[in-house]
Amino acid sequence: MKNYLTASISASAVRHNIAALRSLIGEGVKLCPVVKDDCFGHGMDVLYPVLAELTDGFAVAAPLEALELRQKGYHGFILCFLSAYFDDFKIQDELVWQEITQTVMSQSAMTSIQEAARRVGKVAKVHLKVDTGMGRLGVPANQAATLIETIQKIPEVELTGIYTHFATADEKDRAATFRQLELFNSIVPAAGNITVHAANSAATIDWPETHFDMVRVGIAMYGCHPSDQIRNRVDLKPCMSVKAKLIAVKHMRQGSKTGYGLAHEFERDSRVGVVPIGYGDGYFRSLSNKAVVRINGMEAAVCGRVSMDQMTVDVTDIPDIQVGAEVEVISSDPAAPNGVENLARLADTIPYEITCHLGHNMRHVLVD
Ligand SMILES: *Cc1c(COP(=O)(O)O)cnc(C)c1O
Repeated sequence: MKNYLTASISASAVRHNIAALRSLIGEGVKLCPVVKDDCFGHGMDVLYPVLAELTDGFAVAAPLEALELRQKGYHGFILCFLSAYFDDFKIQDELVWQEITQTVMSQSAMTSIQEAARRVGKVAKVHLKVDTGMGRLGVPANQAATLIETIQKIPEVELTGIYTHFATADEKDRAATFRQLELFNSIVPAAGNITVHAANSAATIDWPETHFDMVRVGIAMYGCHPSDQIRNRVDLKPCMSVKAKLIAVKHMRQGSKTGYGLAHEFERDSRVGVVPIGYGDGYFRSLSNKAVVRINGMEAAVCGRVSMDQMTVDVTDIPDIQVGAEVEVISSDPAAPNGVENLARLADTIPYEITCHLGHNMRHVLVD
């Protein structure tokens, strides 16, 4: 962990995003924040109190993430997307004991939960995941009814929800999502009166007919748009900014070069600042010679290749630059060239990957 790198997480931005999403879904629909992978890199430790107060549960990927939420004292609904099928019995039992809602997506996952419930002596709550076309996790749609019947006959297991996940809800072409939704709608009645959910951020924003009883929102809650197609329909505020301090400033002569591969040549006498962040901290190497950071509100280009723990930025045009100057590596202003979405575009990836990578190696602090 690098204590000299700081991810500042804005509580007010998250509150704003949750309010904006709530106004889209209306009163009767629950909002379940997706907090897998340390809140997409934003930091569970800092966000937990904000989210626990404003939402209707939590969704995580890994069993241990669910148990960590219980350790924090959370007593409400927690849905775990991945199965504990391959975990040891201790974790499987703990999930049942601590009343984590588990995902069932096959007969064998079902059996392992049933056995854990028997060992623990408690009824296990499960949501059935149906593959309606994503082609990933989930019982194939044509086998869903059979599995529902099976689960409903098992006394140690209570089916409390059914869900699916969309593959293309963030795309302009609406056909595939529409087919998934139709298929899901044809299965839902067989499950009876239980919690039905389908929408990720994109569907929450763009597909009101997918809201059902609950939406599972990740990226939008953290303030980024799921894709460029889903834009301007809801006002989102990115909640993360990342700061570092210059650890060196030096003069470089015209024609000299910097970094691995000497991949950048200075076309004039220049000054460079060394920023102590690199791809080991989740700053993508593909941003080498492409991205900018901001210092005193002015842009400084990343020059040369990003190394594991440091990179160089051109500060020639920024007056009065000293060692120790604050560097805004990631801006929470979505219009800034170093905003998450703009960096994602430059790195040819999605905002999700930027925040996930940046989050793991630095201090997180909650601001305003
Ligand atoms: C990650 C995930 C989500 C959240 O997706 P966003 O696009 O971040 O809103 C929702 N549902 C499932 C099953 C997921 O794996």
